[in-house]
Amino acid sequence: MINLKDLTYGELEKFLGSVGEKPYRAGQIYSWLHSGVESFDEMTNISKDLRVRLEEVSFISKPEVLDKLISKDKTIKILWKLADGETIESVVMEYKHGNSICISTQVGCKMGCKFCASTIGGKIRDLSAGEMLDEVIFAQKVTGRKISNIVLMGIGEPLDNYDNVIKFLSNVGNPKGINIGYRHISLSTCGIVPNIDRLAEEGYPITLSISLHAGDDETRTGIMPVNKKYKIDELINACKRYIEKTGRRISFEYALIAGVNDSEEAAGKLYRLLKGMLCHINLIPVNSVKESTLKRGSEKSIYKFKSMLEKRGLNVTVRRELGSDISASCGQLRRKNQLGEGGECE
Ligand code: SAH
Repeated sequence: MINLKDLTYGELEKFLGSVGEKPYRAGQIYSWLHSGVESFDEMTNISKDLRVRLEEVSFISKPEVLDKLISKDKTIKILWKLADGETIESVVMEYKHGNSICISTQVGCKMGCKFCASTIGGKIRDLSAGEMLDEVIFAQKVTGRKISNIVLMGIGEPLDNYDNVIKFLSNVGNPKGINIGYRHISLSTCGIVPNIDRLAEEGYPITLSISLHAGDDETRTGIMPVNKKYKIDELINACKRYIEKTGRRISFEYALIAGVNDSEEAAGKLYRLLKGMLCHINLIPVNSVKESTLKRGSEKSIYKFKSMLEKRGLNVTVRRELGSDISASCGQLRRKNQLGEGGECE
């Protein structure tokens, strides 16, 4: 049985051909699927006969809401249960420019970053393109908010689920579907170098975010095992090729961890690495995860680090924290659910 939302538009046309239907029907069916119908019977301009035939060989996925937490700042976190019982989470945030959703791309994660809750139980499986799309479609239904921005920054490493992520991108920006502009989509990676190069060739004008978190190999390898495989120089060179190819500015994520990567020396290293690049640095005060000994610095130390970078001429912002009262950072809600602990507020 095929989940029709796993198919790109072209694949849906071929699929319809294979069940003896004219490819032009794809437009209607595609729009129905992406508008969030939950059954074939809702496709009212499709003949009963075709609906029955589709139902025999395919299905329309729908995740179940296991938990929904709303924070004081109106951030909404949703814990989804997928068809096989696995859980993932999405976060909907309200900004002046519209609603943004942070989606998961895998069930768990195998990258092993020391500060991240998503990786604690390892990777269970990849999400399909349709499951990622469902996070957006059903978050709109569940929250009643129209989503205009997407960040692939939830549980999982998007470039470790490359083909499905590309299919998802193809679908989510399709004008016949939910039609979110690629300039309103960001993809965050811990730095899987060969796939950064592949992504540059795909031609989607999305924003690439790199989870850098350190400006030297020793520190980075200590907190991000992926750095053993792809060293900082290789990563930065891939970023330069990406900028060259796409003309897009890269965003470097830097989670400040007290005593690990927040010194004057660390700022100097970061500067030497990024000077002259078309980029922006996003400082994130690290969220302490129960299982980790890494701690965040004081508010003061965060702004001190920011000014160390600014005085060197780098472009820096401190990420606004949303939903900190509802465990809104990566994988924390799923982890709590696995441990049998409930959320903190309703
Ligand atoms: N795997 C991808 C996307 C998911 S993580 C990546 O590594 O980029 C999304 C962002 O949140 C990354 O920048 C990640 O490093 C950061 N992050 C993870 N755990 C965090 C924590 N406890 N505090 C602050 N940032 C965290």
